[in-house]
Amino acid sequence: MSTIIYPSPIFGPVHSRRLGVSLGVNLMPGDGKVCSFDCVYCECGFNADFRPKEKRPTRDEVRQCLTDVLRQRHEQGQPLDVITFAGNGEPTGHPDFAAIIGDTIEVRDRYFPEAKVSVLSNATFIHRQDVREALMRVDNNIQKLDTVDADYINRVDRPVSPAYNVQDVVNDLCQFNGHVIIQTMFMDGTMADGTDVSNTSEHFLKPWIEALQRIRPQQVMIYTIDRETPATGLRKATPDVLNAIRDRVEREAGVPCQASY
Ligand code: SF4
Repeated sequence: MSTIIYPSPIFGPVHSRRLGVSLGVNLMPGDGKVCSFDCVYCECGFNADFRPKEKRPTRDEVRQCLTDVLRQRHEQGQPLDVITFAGNGEPTGHPDFAAIIGDTIEVRDRYFPEAKVSVLSNATFIHRQDVREALMRVDNNIQKLDTVDADYINRVDRPVSPAYNVQDVVNDLCQFNGHVIIQTMFMDGTMADGTDVSNTSEHFLKPWIEALQRIRPQQVMIYTIDRETPATGLRKATPDVLNAIRDRVEREAGVPCQASY
């Protein structure tokens, strides 16, 4: 199994298939993974296998590192399309997430005012008002919603908190008033222990599309497994299946949808 543990607090830039030339901001420790989900498809591996010993970067460390990298790229005439909060876990769980977003916008405006700020999140902290307000300030507020089926989430996304409730999350996503991009992983297959991980059937699609009709996101991004996964038995959703889902989202929810294979 190959896993990716990103440096902290800055990594890349990498060329993202969805986002362009992207400088990564990792608010988790650089020696392990910290996430409020424990997805069976996570490219960083399972939480239990990569417990970090280091601490998260502080707000000051993030601001200083980001300033240094952006100033250097600006002076050297190197391009930048987007600053992306991602990495070894859930960025919005950092206690200073909202203040770090404010710092990032300030530094971005100074050196690369045309660059976007994106956050890749699993939506587990959007019940917090300070997190929601910070996400309203970023250009691309990208929130994971793999399904609205609670059993599937417990099998595949595996929230750490027993209090996780997907209907509450959908309600919170509605509060963005459309300033949100929904990102959904589709796949097929059965894990070695017999767990079915397919979420491409009508049983999953119909309520998920109904949730999109309520959330009214600005865009939906659907994708499938791209790298080796910590759990075995997972299979990619086919391009035909993804294209059919994309067309349904656009037709039934009236939202632009991008499929990545
Ligand atoms: S939410 Fe993202 S970082 Fe967290 S376990 Fe799932 S795939 Fe990994």
